[in-house]
Amino acid sequence: MYRKGHLGVSLLVFAPVGYWLVSVGEPEAAMLTGVVLLWLAMLPDIDHRFPVIEHRGVTHSLVFAGLVGGLFAVAGVALGDVFRVAGLGLGTFGFLLGFLTVGAHLVGDALTPAGIPLLWPLPRTYSLSVTRADNTLANYGLFVVGIVVTGGWVLVAFGSG
Ligand SMILES: [Zn+2]
Repeated sequence: MYRKGHLGVSLLVFAPVGYWLVSVGEPEAAMLTGVVLLWLAMLPDIDHRFPVIEHRGVTHSLVFAGLVGGLFAVAGVALGDVFRVAGLGLGTFGFLLGFLTVGAHLVGDALTPAGIPLLWPLPRTYSLSVTRADNTLANYGLFVVGIVVTGGWVLVAFGSG
């Protein structure tokens, strides 16, 4: 998937999480989650910059999602118990945030026939084979749907509160 498609998928993954955070009175955490999800939506494609790492290899797996989650958890723990997010310590929240950020990218690439090695180092790739990565309509379509859905839940969440 290309950047626009990934941003769309990240917005769709963010929708239920963001809505939940706002509904439990954590709009700042919702905002932070959305910013991180969009900012790092392409993080797994960092493998393009390292010729030694196979594209759509380890960075497109649960191992990498766990690794990024772990780094975010360390950052959260380093901040200390200054506050909690929806009852979660910052370490836990950090892990979930990092894991979700990579997970959203994996969902986007799993839509393509090439798929992702979800259980790397096992060689099997997983694919939903919905659309080719370079399909312009799919990329723009996901992007637009992501924005519309985000606008919808933000209106509902803040309009009712
Ligand atoms: Zn990718």
